Amino acid sequence: MKSLTLLNALYPKSCNCSKPNLVFLKVKNRPSMARCSNCHKQVSITANTPFQGYQSNLAYISYIIWDMVNQYPKVMTSKEISRKLNLSYRTSYYLKKRIQIIFSQLNDKLRKELFEELKNTENTDQKPIAVADSVVLFSASLKANKYRSRRYKTGTASIYLSNNLQGRQVGCLVHTIGINHGMTFYKSIPLNNQHYLENDLNEKIPKNVTLYTDEGYTFLWDRPNHKMVNHSKKSKDPRYNLSRDRWVTREGVSNNGAESRNNILKQSFRSYGYISPRWSQLYLNELSFLSNLKFKPELRNLLSLGDDAFVLEVNRSDAQENLTNNVEKYLYRPLSLEERNQESKSSLINKINFEKFQRLSKGLKDAITVNNQFWNQNYIENHKRRKESKYNLVARKLWVLLELKKWTSLDDLVKISGYSRLEVLFILKKWLTVGLINMSKTNERYMDTYKIYKKTNDLFYLLYSETKTQVKANWNNFNKKIFKNKSYRSNRKYGS
Ligand SMILES: [Zn+2]
Repeated sequence: MKSLTLLNALYPKSCNCSKPNLVFLKVKNRPSMARCSNCHKQVSITANTPFQGYQSNLAYISYIIWDMVNQYPKVMTSKEISRKLNLSYRTSYYLKKRIQIIFSQLNDKLRKELFEELKNTENTDQKPIAVADSVVLFSASLKANKYRSRRYKTGTASIYLSNNLQGRQVGCLVHTIGINHGMTFYKSIPLNNQHYLENDLNEKIPKNVTLYTDEGYTFLWDRPNHKMVNHSKKSKDPRYNLSRDRWVTREGVSNNGAESRNNILKQSFRSYGYISPRWSQLYLNELSFLSNLKFKPELRNLLSLGDDAFVLEVNRSDAQENLTNNVEKYLYRPLSLEERNQESKSSLINKINFEKFQRLSKGLKDAITVNNQFWNQNYIENHKRRKESKYNLVARKLWVLLELKKWTSLDDLVKISGYSRLEVLFILKKWLTVGLINMSKTNERYMDTYKIYKKTNDLFYLLYSETKTQVKANWNNFNKKIFKNKSYRSNRKYGS
């Protein structure tokens, strides 16, 4: 009975008469039928829901859902269902799948509602704060993966087996997006690149909302309230605003929220032992939905108590599918090795809209064009590809350490970034040449003190390598472009 109430609240059925009043029948062989007391038409409650064609006892549905809701964050495995209901593993497995589809559909609905809500929070006192982060589950173990093929961020485990094993995806890379003191959504993605992270953000968080991430999101430029937290380094010096504490003081938040979400995720998934990437999105939806329920008390009451005062209709087009088609929608399709290579190939091409490009200085436009031409070649030698990827990574890490329209000393940048002075200067040389920064040099007690001024927020992919013949000319050019004015020296705010 409770199961039918529940299904009918989520997937309402009607007899299409003037005074519909569905009464559940207790027909022995057709337990899912209801009849209208007014027109006497019979309607199946499970038809066009994820439970269409379901053969087992209907009572199991609400019973298991109740358990799942109440034992969160502990997850309910198929094995546990089979033990609880004394069912075969196979039956329990499909019962869980059907419930996962319902949860996925409801969670999609919550996501869309939240998006609309967030769009209209301009004038409220308590501004919502979004956090995003990614985490690896079931990483390809070192043992299976002697030659790590890919790394995510620094030192993060890979989800792919090495290339000579066809680089099959075995682990899951999960993008977590949450609202502080609010809902959380997880997305299974194949690569931690701009394309996937940005698409997921655009689907969940409107652009005006304050968003906290770590330093891996330098590509975001059209989100005015995006803040990056520097995880790895700490600085007590408030001048450069480089420590993670800086976010905490102003708005009472940091992206710790994302980290604690990832911890719940990791812990919950430990119960499963292993999940193939193919099914990952369904399992993530289940967990995300269960955690989001606490922000939807009416829905929680419906699912746990069978409280039918509340009706939340699942999108009709979603509902009217059989199990196979529904599962299909939430399956994760891993990328083939070729596709992955293709994606990593194109990842360092700058994608800028025309008007924005036109507004850049000539030096920068030329550098961007040269970079894009390089990455558009049909064949690029591997060592060149690797070198440029590495330089661009170092560049992005340094870039976020510099504060916009402020002077930062080279010594501080070296100390905080962990890169050597020469490595840092190598990147700065390029930036100065193309006009992304200004630099000044002061000679003090036989020591050269450099300062860097970040002129713009946008860092583009650039080619950093230089041929032997270019090295000297480039340094000369660099030295020419450095300010050596004395006035700056007297304006210094901070002694060293
Ligand atoms: Zn009727």
